[in-house]
Amino acid sequence: MALDLIIRNGNLPDGRSGMDIGVQGGRIAEVAHRIEAAAGAEIDATGRLVSPSFVDPHFHMDATLSLGLPRMNRSGTLLEGIALWGELRPTLTHEAVIERALRYCDLAVSQGLLHIRSHVDISDPSLLAVESLIAVRKKVAPYIDLQLVAFPQDGYYRSPGAVDALSRALDLGVDIVGGIPHFERTMGDGAASVAALCRIAADRGLPVDMHCDETDDPMSRHIETLAAETVRFGLQGRVAGSHLTSMHSMDNYYVSKLIPLMAEAEINVIANPLINMMLQGRHDTYPKRRGMTRVRELMEAGLNVSFGHDCVMDPWYSMGSGDMLEVGHMAIHVAQMAGIEDKKKVFDALTVNSAKAMGLEGYGIDKGCNADLVILQARDPLEALRLKPTRLAVIRRGKIIARAAPTVTELLLEGRPGSLDRSASFAPAS
Ligand SMILES: [Zn+2]
Repeated sequence: MALDLIIRNGNLPDGRSGMDIGVQGGRIAEVAHRIEAAAGAEIDATGRLVSPSFVDPHFHMDATLSLGLPRMNRSGTLLEGIALWGELRPTLTHEAVIERALRYCDLAVSQGLLHIRSHVDISDPSLLAVESLIAVRKKVAPYIDLQLVAFPQDGYYRSPGAVDALSRALDLGVDIVGGIPHFERTMGDGAASVAALCRIAADRGLPVDMHCDETDDPMSRHIETLAAETVRFGLQGRVAGSHLTSMHSMDNYYVSKLIPLMAEAEINVIANPLINMMLQGRHDTYPKRRGMTRVRELMEAGLNVSFGHDCVMDPWYSMGSGDMLEVGHMAIHVAQMAGIEDKKKVFDALTVNSAKAMGLEGYGIDKGCNADLVILQARDPLEALRLKPTRLAVIRRGKIIARAAPTVTELLLEGRPGSLDRSASFAPAS
């Protein structure tokens, strides 16, 4: 049998090197040291890393690339970002939201990012952003798996009409129930919103993904309620707690009881290192808290921890490039995950863990998985995290959908080599 495609001589994230990957009908047909078969096309990976395509489990595609509209975020804080989004929202048009989202998806593809969970704000009763992103979800389906979360940005109870709008958004086909308990008027309202939203998810058979405790306040403990309601409604493994930054500042004794409860509920933890570093600790003078959740401790307790990009060039974050390796690079620093095994875990948090959080089927480099792959100009995950290298080929269901030439710098120095490849020229001593 002839295969559609064979990728030869690739290194896999699990450490296997010199591997061939055979693709047939959009799926991986074989992974072996040498595949003796004919193929319609071959790619020589030349000993570079072949990874499953990257996964972003937390993003805001309705706001992306709107930086500067209608003005810049002067304080750079979360609350001014939310206020600024409130100013921008009434001026949005379907065409503009769709155009920006599609442009972001182009960028994502170029970075090998083919699976995105985006929150979509339902606070506008016209549901303009919801309708726009549902259109985008359909349009990009051939090359990006886009999941949508019904997100009450201004509060489920705090914003008039949000209870009804969230229900209508789900009726229109939004995939996941969102929430923002720490933004409700009171802790009590926050807890009540968590219970109500988990009930909706249970009734409709949908997953839950809440912005939860995105604050430095150690008393913001909605994750405890979210875990308890998850168990109560039998939603184990289908609920994500996004951000959970208050855990950074919580009392250690309290956390020693909280983490086992989260493990019992099989909460998917989604940290957003870039945005957490930019927005948390803003009320601190010195010392300033880092404000990312307890990544290492949650991983050690067996929880599924993944990392999201959250924002790219929007009211909350003026930076970003659609590169999940940039997210991982920041995570390594913030969580001080410097060891070799630590970095492998960070790479998993950008790929397999995120895929699990999103409930993706057929993800990975095993026989039968979807052939959604990226070849990077790096030898292994550690080097990829260090260099954030060029994506040489991005493959969707066995077809190349983006490619780039290797980045090589010509050096014009007397007595030194004529060219420099950041990957090949700087291998660590082994
Ligand atoms: Zn977010």
